[in-house]
Amino acid sequence: MRALLFSCIVACIVAPFVRTADAKRHAAAAPKDAKPKHPKGWPMPAAGPTMSGDPELIFTFDDGPNPQTTPAVLDALAKHHIHAVFFMVGEMAANKRASEVIARILREGHIIANHTMTHQDLCRIKDDDRANREIDDGKTAIEKASGIATGWFRTPYGARCERVESMLAERHLTHFHWDLDPQEWKHGNAKKAFDYVTKQVGQMTGRNVLLMHDIKKATVESLPEILDWIDAENERRKGIHKRRIRIIQSYEIAEERLPPGFLDWIAEVASPASLSASIASVLP
Ligand SMILES: [Zn+2]
Repeated sequence: MRALLFSCIVACIVAPFVRTADAKRHAAAAPKDAKPKHPKGWPMPAAGPTMSGDPELIFTFDDGPNPQTTPAVLDALAKHHIHAVFFMVGEMAANKRASEVIARILREGHIIANHTMTHQDLCRIKDDDRANREIDDGKTAIEKASGIATGWFRTPYGARCERVESMLAERHLTHFHWDLDPQEWKHGNAKKAFDYVTKQVGQMTGRNVLLMHDIKKATVESLPEILDWIDAENERRKGIHKRRIRIIQSYEIAEERLPPGFLDWIAEVASPASLSASIASVLP
């Protein structure tokens, strides 16, 4: 309760300054985020240009949480000290069996964000009210399950249309898009996902947001290999004086979007324990 209260306070203080971002679905249901059905896509690069000059990578995981598969994703991230963003589906988060994994996600310093209540295509839902409820109910369900306010949002399927833009504007939200999609949700092939990600990441020069799905076996299987490959590639680059692949932590993205000096001020008034969870989950 204290964390939620603090999050709300932070959200209220910061809101005027920041660019606010970002049917029972089972693990077997196929997300189709990769193929926007709408002609107008979201701007890319999704999280702006590189800040360090190095190729930068941000990890995001959609459609969970799933108590069967998400823990393995968390294990892999923890092994490599990576903090990611989990765009949760409200009804997945509301599942009582997910409460433990949600607590772990927060405890391990990841950001949780809203990916709607039931993962509908917000441009295709006929009823405006239903589309609105998808966003609002998702936020409510995730916040109730986690005790943390959410600030970031991603539309299912990356859907973009005038309705979505209006709904986001009304809520002072922007869409948190992605740049790299290995489509593991579609082909279910871990090797294919590994090959795609390592090829793209090996060639990239700017900042890229990677989209994967913590409900998918192919994600669980390929992620450890991808992270080991990045470590090995960085070792190789060290030897040839080539810019390393820099993992951008999700809280670093949050900090980038804070008003100058805000973090120092808030650190003085909050306990360290509540600080990371609250800041990370509230800010765009
Ligand atoms: Zn999705």
